[in-house]
Amino acid sequence: MTFLDYAPALESTSILNLKPSYGLFIGGEFVDGSGSAFATISPATEATITQVASATEGDVDRAVRSARTAYDKTWSKMSGSERGKYLFRIARLIQERSRELAVAETLDNGKPIRETRDVDIPLVAAWFFYYAGWADKLEYAGLGPKPRSLGVAAQIIPWNFPLLMLAWKIAPALAAGNTVVLKPAETTPLTALLFAEICQQAQLPPGVVNIITGAGATGAALVAHPGINKVAFTGSTPVGRTIAQTLAGTETKVTLELGGKGANIIFEDAAIDQAIEGIVSGIFFNQGHVCCAGSRLLVQENIHDDVVARLQKRLSTLRMGDPLDKNTDIGAVNSRAQLERITEITDSGEVEGATRWTSSCAIPEKGFWFAPTVFTDVHTSHRIARDEIFGPVLSVLTFRTPEEAIAKANNTPYGLSAGIWTEKASRMLAVADKLRAGVIWANTFNKFDPASPFGGYQESGYGREGGRHGLAGYLMPSDWKAGAK
Ligand code: NAP
Ligand code: MG
Repeated sequence: MTFLDYAPALESTSILNLKPSYGLFIGGEFVDGSGSAFATISPATEATITQVASATEGDVDRAVRSARTAYDKTWSKMSGSERGKYLFRIARLIQERSRELAVAETLDNGKPIRETRDVDIPLVAAWFFYYAGWADKLEYAGLGPKPRSLGVAAQIIPWNFPLLMLAWKIAPALAAGNTVVLKPAETTPLTALLFAEICQQAQLPPGVVNIITGAGATGAALVAHPGINKVAFTGSTPVGRTIAQTLAGTETKVTLELGGKGANIIFEDAAIDQAIEGIVSGIFFNQGHVCCAGSRLLVQENIHDDVVARLQKRLSTLRMGDPLDKNTDIGAVNSRAQLERITEITDSGEVEGATRWTSSCAIPEKGFWFAPTVFTDVHTSHRIARDEIFGPVLSVLTFRTPEEAIAKANNTPYGLSAGIWTEKASRMLAVADKLRAGVIWANTFNKFDPASPFGGYQESGYGREGGRHGLAGYLMPSDWKAGAK
């Protein structure tokens, strides 16, 4: 045992009260799905957690009809302050059930309990509290007096922050007066189903929130349904492109939050130890399954060797293992398919000539794991410098001048996030001004706040979530023609 070894500190799963199987949540009730049920598993152990229903086209139709009825009869007629009360109630219930939600998320997703407990679930509650406050103040949303809701919103989310992405979607949609049909990712449906229970507990009118589980085909059927007024999607750029094609020429509004290849730029005058922590949280938080991850490190050439040496030393102290252990820093990769994707693209880095360093942590026998990896000698043409890996893999590039750093940072089809590390505020502002990224952090990374808009440029998508700007995706000015269907 070295001084870095800790005794296990496992979070108990006894707080969970899971059912052996879950139906679809339509019209305020759990109902059977018509497709064949599937298992959701723990990626850390590959053990089945519970069975989940699969929604067919017919089920999607039922869910959309239920949302339409709730919109026409109840939700669109309710005052903003009344809607706000429901959202505040949901936010408080999330806080009350926060430990249970954190355990469920860690089990289903594989991310460390330290993150679900301290980041995901507190942010989920914060998102509902924030948008609850907006429900009766929509005339200040920047769309003129009396902005109108859109109707039924179809919402599709990925597996990396399952409940947080649900909150980013549902909270603003409901505050603005829309009803929703949400499809969680196939590998992480659990917390969305617990959220359905919370809607029941909050006595949310039936049909205001509908949750339909299933695979990509369920998502495609939802997007193609003629009864929806809005699609809000977070996921990969290829699926985002397909959705844009499906909806081209229709009146359905779309917001797309897609992939990224964020540049984290370290200038020679940065506080290096702080920057090392920022690099670690930038790419090793959530196993690197973060769309806005700082996956490309741009280091000023003269401090490159020092930064890489300190980074490797720090990464050697990260503990990978049981996500339910409170000491764990790096949990499991969410699925076998994602592990294969990470492995394939990481191998290409070596083939193309970059130098690979991997932390020598022990890999558990079962489950899906990938040790923190850093590539040096990376060229801008390498795949590991261009493609989104969506895993705990960092590509290090160098620059000599601020101009070169900006050019390299912007040399990507994406444009979601960037980070700047310098002690000089004038340089920070001058560089930030020239970066084509929706979110730019200075001397920090991966910080989220419901009041702050988030979204991308170029192939990272369009539309903003969070803040006042996040309401614009769910409202239209009162003088626009109705998009009623
Ligand atoms: P994905 O394959 O695009 O899946 C996202 C969601 O879309 C899932 O619910 C998926 O269902 C569903 N889906 C799949 N095919 C569909 C189709 N043809 N029509 C409609 N829905 C469909 O992405 P992922 O691999 O789960 O997530 C990783 C990606 O999300 C990364 O590229 C990441 O950068 C991006 N992301 C972006 C943000 C952001 O805010 N910009 C945030 C988080 C993640 P299944 O799960 O059943 O496949
Ligand atoms: Mg799972």
